[in-house]
Amino acid sequence: MPGELGPLVDSHAHLDDGAFDEDRDAVLARAREAGIAAIVNVGYNEARWSSTAALCATYPEVYGVLGCHPHEATAWAPALLDRLRAALRGPKIVGLGEIGLDFYRDYAPHDRQRAAFAAQLDLARELALPVVIHSRAAEDEVVAMLAAAGVGRGVLHSFSGGLATARRALDLGLHLSLTGPVSYPKAEHQRDLARAIPLERLLLETDCPYLAPQPRRGRRNEPAFARFTAAAIAAARGATPAAVAAATTANAARLFALPWRRPPPRPRAARTRPESGRGWDAWRSDPIAARRGGQRRDRASRPAHPVPRTGAVTWAGLHPYSILEGRDRIVAGRAAERSPHGSARRALVERELGNGYC
Ligand SMILES: [Zn+2]
Repeated sequence: MPGELGPLVDSHAHLDDGAFDEDRDAVLARAREAGIAAIVNVGYNEARWSSTAALCATYPEVYGVLGCHPHEATAWAPALLDRLRAALRGPKIVGLGEIGLDFYRDYAPHDRQRAAFAAQLDLARELALPVVIHSRAAEDEVVAMLAAAGVGRGVLHSFSGGLATARRALDLGLHLSLTGPVSYPKAEHQRDLARAIPLERLLLETDCPYLAPQPRRGRRNEPAFARFTAAAIAAARGATPAAVAAATTANAARLFALPWRRPPPRPRAARTRPESGRGWDAWRSDPIAARRGGQRRDRASRPAHPVPRTGAVTWAGLHPYSILEGRDRIVAGRAAERSPHGSARRALVERELGNGYC
């Protein structure tokens, strides 16, 4: 319940996914009630750079990470690199990703994936941004490319590789994040990872709408469910959920240079120390001003969870959902072609809810 764990950071979400079109405001409200203090939304192709920027403008607790996903590497080109560089300079953009290699789904030729990944690692160094890494069936090569590029500030998101690879990544300075599957009854390897990763290098994420944790498995994931994953990690480690929450939240705030002040206030009804959340409250209502030190004094006159709308771009005007829907259909079709007994519908359901497309 709210407040029990302390503030959480969902370090990897896709809230601009079409799965949230019907109730995005309610999803964000539930996240706040569940103690999610910040959400890092990952825009993995050019259309998602725009929708991530719109989310950042609309919701104070949302920050953005932008990049070209390995699935999208066929589109990689010098002009795209220039546009990405410009987009990364936008407000509340805190990292570059998700980038990497995916030799499991194989949506783009391996050489194109390597070229896009290497160029974006250079860009991350140029802009001094942490990287969010997607790696599937390519963990060893991904870690080798990170080492060759001299990039050690970042996270291997939704990590499911081997313990030896995890150790090499940790030696480079990287963080590792775990997702909902750590809570699945048969996911012993995920729990081995949960025990092996030092607490100071662990991040919490949902990767929503994908990879919902056990109590919500098979359904659409959302940031509020991060607390189930925190509890599963804690159980595997023999730690308290509050300890996992505190560490992963501090790690995310440090890695992404979130304007961390203090934990957010408890919900008004349960609050016993009215002044405890002053800094965070200011950050949440106006993070840019708070970062400059210009905290507001009129908090009593503001609602508990203000959501500034001024300057926010309307969804209808900005987000090309028709393109995304078309792309999703293509993805589903490709997956169906590969599957000897699958259907496009089943592939789409798996892509949306279970298998973690990105
Ligand atoms: Zn993702």
